[in-house]
Amino acid sequence: MRPTLYPAAEELIRNKKQQKLDEQEQGHKHNNTLGELRAKKAAYVLVVCNSCGAQGHSTKRSPICPNHDMTLLQLLNRDLGPHQRYTLSITLDSFISNNDHIQRARGRIIVQSSFLRELIKISGTEFTEQFMVV
Ligand SMILES: [Zn+2]
Repeated sequence: MRPTLYPAAEELIRNKKQQKLDEQEQGHKHNNTLGELRAKKAAYVLVVCNSCGAQGHSTKRSPICPNHDMTLLQLLNRDLGPHQRYTLSITLDSFISNNDHIQRARGRIIVQSSFLRELIKISGTEFTEQFMVV
């Protein structure tokens, strides 16, 4: 600690500095000061990802993480490059060539869709009843 040469002047300077800091705090309650932003950025660089262990991001939700979960479109763009997507409708018979497999697949489709069929029947009936009563 250095000796105080001009106590009155140093007191004045200290008060001015404190006053300025108080004004900055009141004026920038919602905005971060440059120093705060730098501190945040420095702290963020020290963050370690819990998925890949690299610094600079905290989770694999960050696009810079090598384990980032990409969307379907991002995956297709990465693997196929520029491309165009379209849907083609074909019959089950043309999709599956083996006759045994067709019968098994058809049975499964009927079982899987039976629940939805019943649901649509029930809701359709209830809708009609409600509509007729009112
Ligand atoms: Zn990561």
